[in-house]
Amino acid sequence: MLCEKCQADIAKEETFQHGGQTLCEDCYVEALSRPQPCDPGAVSAARAARELQGHTGIDGLTPTQKKIYNYLKEKGKVPREELVKYMQMTPEELQGQFAVLRHCELAKGCKIGNKIYFTLM
Ligand SMILES: [Zn+2]
Repeated sequence: MLCEKCQADIAKEETFQHGGQTLCEDCYVEALSRPQPCDPGAVSAARAARELQGHTGIDGLTPTQKKIYNYLKEKGKVPREELVKYMQMTPEELQGQFAVLRHCELAKGCKIGNKIYFTLM
């Protein structure tokens, strides 16, 4: 099958679902580590809302998001599967929570070898 972003030919077991698209691993990691095309607004809106409330760092995050943040802070780089297990969430749920951290420019995804890791910015 084809990656919907770069049109690379990929095996089905090497595909990743992100934002309703089927992506190859490279595009998936890029999507994780970089705001979506529509996101600059979301990033600056999130930042503006936080500044308005006097929130910096992890202030204003939900307990779940703080838990993710603190785990990454303690561990440094965490493989995606490990964080999914630690948070006892589905990868999709984790993705939703992680998107907020990314929007707030607190954490990001990265790829080392063949594995996807989450780490703080
Ligand atoms: Zn791709």
